[in-house]
Amino acid sequence: MDPAAGGNARRIGDAPGVPDGGLRTEMGIDQRIIDELTALVPRDARADEPMARHTSLGLGGPADLFLEPSDPDTFRDCAAFLADEGVPITVIGRGTNMLVRSGGIDGAVMTGERAFTSLACTEDGIEAGSGVTLHRLLGFCVECGLTGLEGLSGIPGSVGGAVVTNAGSFGDTIGERLTEIVTFEPGMSSKIVPAGDIGIDYRSTCLPERAVVTVARLKLESADPEDVERRQRETLEKKWKSQPSGMRSAGCVFRNPPGESAGKIIDTLGLKGTRVGGAVVSDVHAGFILNDRGATPDEVEELIELVRSRVVDETGIALELEIEIVGRRAH
Ligand SMILES: Cc1cc2nc3c(=O)[nH]c(=O)nc-3n(C[C@H](O)[C@H](O)[C@H](O)COP(=O)(O)OP(=O)(O)OC[C@H]3O[C@@H](n4cnc5c(N)ncnc54)[C@H](O)[C@@H]3O)c2cc1C
Repeated sequence: MDPAAGGNARRIGDAPGVPDGGLRTEMGIDQRIIDELTALVPRDARADEPMARHTSLGLGGPADLFLEPSDPDTFRDCAAFLADEGVPITVIGRGTNMLVRSGGIDGAVMTGERAFTSLACTEDGIEAGSGVTLHRLLGFCVECGLTGLEGLSGIPGSVGGAVVTNAGSFGDTIGERLTEIVTFEPGMSSKIVPAGDIGIDYRSTCLPERAVVTVARLKLESADPEDVERRQRETLEKKWKSQPSGMRSAGCVFRNPPGESAGKIIDTLGLKGTRVGGAVVSDVHAGFILNDRGATPDEVEELIELVRSRVVDETGIALELEIEIVGRRAH
């Protein structure tokens, strides 16, 4: 990943001493590795899978290999095999916080959306698999009569992605509800990590590069299910009014600078509606960049840079990315 692109996509297997991350042909993973994996998990592995299918921006070139294992053991076996072969692994959730470049992603992309789907009430909250959608988690909060996550309503990610990015809005963050997570590094056994050890901060955590999150344990308070549902609905209504709906985006592109709103700064500079090709700054919320008319990843990235440079030139504020830009530029 380009360090200038910010973000913290989990990359596993960039073994020291193995140039460019593994046993690969010039164009991607060694064919033998692809053949072995597709034979092992024929329904869960696809070579040259367009990442546009797996990101909310609907953009991105192919992952050399895309794996969507159907159960935890298969996920772990595939990850161990790939790491052993020195193939870099990028773990994603629902791809709602990333821009994938048009050259696609080097190595393997894995998602736990089918493998880590457990959801259960605990004594003091909920234990959720990392592949569970936030939408499903919030529905479960209503079923169980548990409050504390209402501000996350409308965030289209998974529990795993939300933990890694410490997702939140309207005053609630997932991080402040976390008690512990379960993670593993490929080829190693699982470990329980207390929330206090993962460096929870504004829209970020400091998980080890190789860690795959499998489970999140959340502490929540009991409440009347109707009240929980009402508060979730109120959050959604506020978002429908203040954010673009039904458009392809990755949410807010920039982190809010301390004490300020990135969206407001961009709006004040009159940048709503600014366009590069098919990419446009939303005229509803200036923090959102939309894939409006068949944008390319390059156009989105160019628009991000244009906004950043206008903001730094006119205010002196260097906006930091909230989304991650991952992958190779097109050849
Ligand atoms: C319309 C819209 C509205 C949004 N509103 C908000 C908002 O209000 N607040 C907010 O915080 N965000 C918001 N977002 C951004 C995004 O939805 C959140 O950051 C979300 O939590 C990301 O989840 P994901 O599953 O899509 O993660 P991804 O984008 O797939 O991944 C995010 C990061 O997590 C890592 N990751 C994912 N799963 C795992 C795992 N199991 N193990 C290890 N690493 C993993 C990835 O490598 C990557 O680094 C919005 C996005 C959209 C499109």
